[in-house]
Amino acid sequence: MVKAVVVCCEKIRDRICIGCARCFKALSLKAGKFGEFDNVEIVAWTSCGGCPGLVVPKLNNLNLVLKQIGVEYDVVFIASCIVKAVKTGYCNIDLEKLAKDVEEEIGKRVIVGTKPPEI
Ligand code: SF4
Ligand code: SF4
Repeated sequence: MVKAVVVCCEKIRDRICIGCARCFKALSLKAGKFGEFDNVEIVAWTSCGGCPGLVVPKLNNLNLVLKQIGVEYDVVFIASCIVKAVKTGYCNIDLEKLAKDVEEEIGKRVIVGTKPPEI
């Protein structure tokens, strides 16, 4: 079992991809990138903070809150909406660099993507 934080696109979450129902379904089915683990427990679900995508500072602040309430996690999922925003929506986030930055600066394993395209 892995404990995880999901980071999604501020512009897509709950505007185009309503209620994050797609990723919740993928999580329950262990589909897409969630299927890489036996079990995934999501401890926090947050956004990139809006354009231009302040993921590392957002995670630093989230970590302060999680520490306060005694919650730990192992993995950061960069949600499929961020991947979509990069590929089709002119988002300037460099996914490879973001993954490297999160791993180096936050010290967590990064998985790029969450739900599969069919969900
Ligand atoms: S791809 Fe997943 S995390 Fe992103 S907005 Fe849709 S359901 Fe939410
Ligand atoms: S920076 Fe990218 S992922 Fe974040 S809100 Fe803007 S388009 Fe979405």
